Amino acid sequence: MSEGVDPSTTGEAADLGTVFLVGSGPGDPDLLTVKAARLIESADVVLHDKLPGPEILGEIPAEKREDVGKRAGGEWTPQEYTNRRLVELAREGKSVVRLKGGDPFVFGRGGEEAEHLADAGVPFEVVPGVTSAIAGPAVAGIPVTHRDHASSVSFVTGHEDPTKEESAVDWDALAATGGTIVVLMGVGKLPAYAAELRDAGLAGDTPVALVERATWPGMRVATGTLDSIVEVRDEAGIEPPAITVIGDVAAARDRVVEFLRNDGGRGDDA
Ligand code: SAH
Repeated sequence: MSEGVDPSTTGEAADLGTVFLVGSGPGDPDLLTVKAARLIESADVVLHDKLPGPEILGEIPAEKREDVGKRAGGEWTPQEYTNRRLVELAREGKSVVRLKGGDPFVFGRGGEEAEHLADAGVPFEVVPGVTSAIAGPAVAGIPVTHRDHASSVSFVTGHEDPTKEESAVDWDALAATGGTIVVLMGVGKLPAYAAELRDAGLAGDTPVALVERATWPGMRVATGTLDSIVEVRDEAGIEPPAITVIGDVAAARDRVVEFLRNDGGRGDDA
């Protein structure tokens, strides 16, 4: 790549830049991988949404950031735009970081972007990150598996309408496994899938925890049961981004919270 030369003015085709699909971790800059931090530093452009959180985004110089998340007015940037922009920047010879919250391949549309880049013949690299699906519960004192309480864990999207006939999530099957259920994007539809799980036979006193803005400044944790959690959510005013943890492990928080220090005193019970 020729440094500082704008290929559009030289008439030469630029070498293709590389796109790095990078996970930022849940939001605490200390939980960025060393590789993610290095790539953010050296990138020409960082395309991001809001999920990496205020601290990580705040450290990236404004002139190399492009926000492809929710726009003012609440509209999402269309995925097609992001796909197109990634290819366009790579063809300009840029080193591009596509920064996503958590891990880029966990509910982050990273898979679609990788396919799009491959189709366009753009070289890319995947840089895994610490997913909020595990780190969110962890910093709240909740192990997603536990020798005595859960020998499996399922990661599911709560974005789907669970009552729609072709729901992609089989809540009945999840209720039957007896393992931990971790729901991402599950604040809004909590009442629907809580009811679905109860109808499928999960006990009403099953512990449930909500971890809001895990590792961000102002992180909050709210706990209850399958029966009470909607009320708990409403009283605490829990908002996205938040993780819902359903299963016996959610009660583990109560057993350790007094001595839990790994969130640096950020964690606050809602
Ligand atoms: N790729 C991301 C998930 C993207 S889907 C990852 O691996 O973490 C978006 C959902 O992730 C949010 O709705 C929320 O459920 C969850 N999430 C991401 N960051 C979070 C955080 N810091 N605290 C709580 N939930 C978070």
